[in-house]
Amino acid sequence: MFKRVQLLILILVIMTLSAASAQSPSKGDPKEVHALIETEPVAKDGDVADDSAIWIHPTDPAQSTIIATDKKDGLVVYNLDGSIHQVIKDVPMNNVDLRYNFPLNGNRVALVIATDRERVTLAIFQVNPDTREIEDVAAEDLPVDINDAYGFCMYHSPITGSYYAILNSKDGTFQQYELFDNGAGRVAVNLVRTFSVDSQPEGCVADDELGFLYVGEEDVAIWKFEAEPDGSNEPIAQVDSTDDSGYLTQDVEGLTIYYTSDQQGYLIASSQGSDEYTVYDRTGDNAYLGMFIIAGTDAIDRASDTDGIDVTNFPLNETFPEGLFIAQDNDNTRPDGNQNFKLVSWTDIALALGLTTDTSFDPRTIGAQ
Ligand code: CA
Ligand code: CA
Ligand code: CA
Ligand code: CA
Ligand code: CA
Repeated sequence: MFKRVQLLILILVIMTLSAASAQSPSKGDPKEVHALIETEPVAKDGDVADDSAIWIHPTDPAQSTIIATDKKDGLVVYNLDGSIHQVIKDVPMNNVDLRYNFPLNGNRVALVIATDRERVTLAIFQVNPDTREIEDVAAEDLPVDINDAYGFCMYHSPITGSYYAILNSKDGTFQQYELFDNGAGRVAVNLVRTFSVDSQPEGCVADDELGFLYVGEEDVAIWKFEAEPDGSNEPIAQVDSTDDSGYLTQDVEGLTIYYTSDQQGYLIASSQGSDEYTVYDRTGDNAYLGMFIIAGTDAIDRASDTDGIDVTNFPLNETFPEGLFIAQDNDNTRPDGNQNFKLVSWTDIALALGLTTDTSFDPRTIGAQ
């Protein structure tokens, strides 16, 4: 009898341990998609890769690049086949975003900005379309004053044409800076708005046509704010939450927007705790539309614990004829290596979730004169 009780206890202990080590339960019905390409791993081990931004080449989309952050070394520029094109070895960079047609030194340039965690400021670059490399164009001594430079996104106002850098600190503070040419061909910033959420944020994305800013409060929710600097400092809606009523599993990490024509499209979030990506309508009340996982194949391992994500609707090459979705992968296991990024064709995601594919919107036209 005693032995039977011991056996029962042992079984209970094993069941409890195995339940704890299993994946967090999904709150929805994730569809499976697969990566077609993975990038070369980052140089150092540990939690190093984070966020990315897709740059589309002005005349040959197959020559487009992915600019990604390295939380130990700086930035890495990848070709669409996943190979490394350029490494900026500097200081830890956390998040990165990009906007086209910024007026600088008499030209219209693609501006790439990342959060510099060591100097607690913004690292500002332009893309040289001839070399496809990024080049430092930050003015000296940017007046960035925040506890730490953590999450980051950019906004181009459809009303004023101004460009903004929006960064956040782990204490919940958001700062919005207007970007301008300092007269010497370098990019300077001017603080125009400060607001906050109650706990640690990171991922954010602005809608350059509809004028909204979506913000991830990591343990809590996705919030929708007005993106204009004179907008309300309170969220105008909660898009989704990590509690029982929501589809997210904390942390809420990367956020990105798939643009289609007619101001339609999708908001996508990295629901890090369940290795899922949740999809919402870009318009109206941001209705929840479904979720997906990036499952493993014989060639490329699954993506898990994803930080940053990015997406474009634009046709890039034969592998990504209807756009590209990119996700950081926390555990790059096939072969065993340092962290990297997984590249998924939008075609795969649209088919799996019954979403629209629309290649007509050209992100390079935002801000064009
Ligand atoms: Ca991570
Ligand atoms: Ca980004
Ligand atoms: Ca985070
Ligand atoms: Ca993996
Ligand atoms: Ca992150």
